[in-house]
Amino acid sequence: MAEIKRALISVSDKTGVVELARALQGFGVEILSTGGTAKLLNDAGIPVIEVADYTGSPEMMDGRLKTLHPKIHGGLLGRRDLPEHVAQMAEHDIPNIDLLVVNLYPFEATIAKPDCTLAEAIEQIDIGGPTMLRAAAKNHQAVTVVVDASDYARVLEEMRKSGGGVGAALRFELARKVFEHTAHYDGAIANYLGTIRNDGSADKFPHTLNLQFERVQAMRYGENPHQDAAFYREASYDGPSIANADQRQGKELSYNNVADLDAALALVQEFEEPACAIIKHANPCGAATGKDLAEAYERAFAGDPVSAFGGIIAFNRPLDGATAEGLLRQFMEAVIAPDISPEAAAILGSKKNVRVLASGAMRAAGSNGWDFKRVRGGMLVQEMDLRRLCDADIQVVTERQPTAEELEDLRFAWAVVKHVRSNAIVYARGGQTLGIGAGQMSRVDAARFGALKAQDAGHELAGCALASDAFFPFRDGVDAAAKAGVKAIIQPGGSIRDEEVIQAANEHGIAMVFTGVRHFKH
Ligand code: 5GP
Repeated sequence: MAEIKRALISVSDKTGVVELARALQGFGVEILSTGGTAKLLNDAGIPVIEVADYTGSPEMMDGRLKTLHPKIHGGLLGRRDLPEHVAQMAEHDIPNIDLLVVNLYPFEATIAKPDCTLAEAIEQIDIGGPTMLRAAAKNHQAVTVVVDASDYARVLEEMRKSGGGVGAALRFELARKVFEHTAHYDGAIANYLGTIRNDGSADKFPHTLNLQFERVQAMRYGENPHQDAAFYREASYDGPSIANADQRQGKELSYNNVADLDAALALVQEFEEPACAIIKHANPCGAATGKDLAEAYERAFAGDPVSAFGGIIAFNRPLDGATAEGLLRQFMEAVIAPDISPEAAAILGSKKNVRVLASGAMRAAGSNGWDFKRVRGGMLVQEMDLRRLCDADIQVVTERQPTAEELEDLRFAWAVVKHVRSNAIVYARGGQTLGIGAGQMSRVDAARFGALKAQDAGHELAGCALASDAFFPFRDGVDAAAKAGVKAIIQPGGSIRDEEVIQAANEHGIAMVFTGVRHFKH
């Protein structure tokens, strides 16, 4: 136990600090404090000593210098177990400071304001706070340091139990939290300054990328059993995410489950109407909309019943009992929906191993909509592909215009193909995928493969729509589609052989739409 006799409190966010100080007062702790914090505590009737009085050095330079003084840093850093340190502290009149409570100037909140200037941001770079935090955390053998207001109660609880001290385990945990916090804080400053070019203009991506990820869980293994793995959450991401989902039942999530759940969530978010997606190995094997979730599921499953075995199933509405009942027909790895109704939970409870997760409400991606791809020795960073088809994108290039029904099918197929690994081809009709050609090295093979899948599943392709994630480089893909019975095609266009491709469509009586947008996904 490290006993607490003297505390220094200096906080920007003053939540809970009066209650904390009052409790410390009850333990007979002497409290030192800086300007604003001291005033608040004094006003609350809690006696404190101002740091300026304590050190004999006034606060100056608009608060840039408050606590940067040997009497403060010596009190935090001096080792109580080394006689030389103890002697030097006595010689220079440096009493121990046993507890430090600090939170920092709100740098991130400041730069989040759209009209924040560089000068304003710079004033919000806390200097004394991190310096004290680091000193106290380094000396956690003797000093307790609190950077997070949600830890006040834990510290007081230990003091209550032990009669005024804090144990080694909590001191270590709190010290680790400090270095995580100051790393994040400095990272935010570096990221911000890193987006300002020397001429003052703005860069989208910072010069160095400092993101913090916190461990959600260790995993049994990675993509394969011989690879150790863990799952991390991006500290500043606030969009819908598998990292923030609530697992309601089932076996522990595996590495591949998480990757597929992420893909599944992204796909169902495309649709306003009730929708279901079944994912296998990062690709949808079936996706559909319906008048309700039960119908959407039936149709997604029917898209490719063979591949759906062991799938990851996502919904864009809270899962109801009737839909859950339908799910029992198949073997599945995991189910995710914004919420799980009590009836659905009870029904899925009969399949104990199935992982059931509530994602929370579907909404647009988070503030940091960045996508990362690891390469050996580096990382590629891009914006997430959040582009949705808008009416202005739709350009009909063939003699025949798509019918209203075909246009609906094209829109649906286009929303799905964005979530299929390239080269990707999706055959669809009536809000249901009929065949998906994924991850092929040539586009014509993707078209052939998707048609083969449809045939295997017993789907009649005559009159269906086809989406291609990138342009057809040759007419062969269109010829293959026509042979399969396709009547409408949606694709980005932009090939040097567009004329040849359009001519092929015209020859086959196919209506073709160019979007001008490509959706590669690798
Ligand atoms: P107060 O409201 O008590 O006047 O100020 C509290 C804030 O000042 C805390 O966020 C703390 O991290 C910060 N702080 C404490 N000492 C110093 C210092 O010497 N320089 C700077 N720039 N900030 C400090």
